[in-house]
Amino acid sequence: MRDVALLLGAILLGSCEEDPAHVWPGDHITYVSEPDTDIEPCGGQVAFTDRLVRHVGETWAPGEGSSLAATLELRSEGTETASGLATRGSAWAARQSAVVHEIGHLITFEDDGVSAAVLSEGIAELIDGDGVLQAYRPPPDLADFMHLQRPEFSAQEYAPAAQLLSFLSRRYGLAAVRDAYRRVGPESFPDEIDDAFVMAFGDGVFDAFEAFQAEPQCPILLWQCSDDVVPTVELPFALELDPRTCGDADIPGFTAKGSDDWFPEYLGVLRLSEPRIIGYRVDNAIITRQQCQDTCTPMESVPPWTWQFVQEQLGQKEFTSHTRAGDHHVKIRPENPGRPFMVEVVDLGPA
Ligand SMILES: [Zn+2]
Repeated sequence: MRDVALLLGAILLGSCEEDPAHVWPGDHITYVSEPDTDIEPCGGQVAFTDRLVRHVGETWAPGEGSSLAATLELRSEGTETASGLATRGSAWAARQSAVVHEIGHLITFEDDGVSAAVLSEGIAELIDGDGVLQAYRPPPDLADFMHLQRPEFSAQEYAPAAQLLSFLSRRYGLAAVRDAYRRVGPESFPDEIDDAFVMAFGDGVFDAFEAFQAEPQCPILLWQCSDDVVPTVELPFALELDPRTCGDADIPGFTAKGSDDWFPEYLGVLRLSEPRIIGYRVDNAIITRQQCQDTCTPMESVPPWTWQFVQEQLGQKEFTSHTRAGDHHVKIRPENPGRPFMVEVVDLGPA
């Protein structure tokens, strides 16, 4: 907190001669934006990211607690090659989809510094928890992939890196993943990375990689399934929101005039004790649902993004879904952030 207060002081002092920068202070993550951008966090975003930082910090480094106090600058434009960047204690994001990824870096850099690209980017992408679409990508050529240096580590490598770390977490535990992370730095040579993997995971790791490549892909680990982070979705559930005004304390996400890159985003967990048929009615909304789990079960035959396909291609506003027992992460956002969106979710009985 003290660091945040000092930083705020510096920002306010520095702004005497210009328009003030916008500042949204949090316990762990303070959002700032330049005066000429109109991006603003919704009413629940600061509290959501503080809860996420505490939960991820405690899971990544058990018993240590998170002392992270960092700023994240919201920018309307990225660079030619990046939509976000993090260093220790500060980061920027030029798209909403980069925000939680950069926060993942802030948490792990604070505790353990920067690691080899596959480990740093893999853990940030894993914390982001947006792996539904990528779960069907073919696994990479691991021998090359593990040794990629940072400039070669492009956007298309992120999802396979998250898949790999999700696999290693399930097989060896997250503590072993953190051990590997801490053993190497950003400039490590390939043989140092190999050594770190063997030290952290044991000799069997290269046999394990064969299993990783041969087995069906699993949904990646989710960090946003804890009730310390997001609310439980009680059925029936209804949400109606104008994305241009999202001050409600239970709505995370962002608002920005004239940009589709920022939007309010409802996040919650649907908990089912038995398989149910769930009915949806939507207008101008995209829903994704992903099963929360620590172990690999096969992906459902109809992946969540199919719903979006049905909505867009067939213009359907109502549909039903057979849904497995267990916890399901639910994400709702507007298809077009320039106008209101609506969602109703109802329980139609046992499947
Ligand atoms: Zn990154």
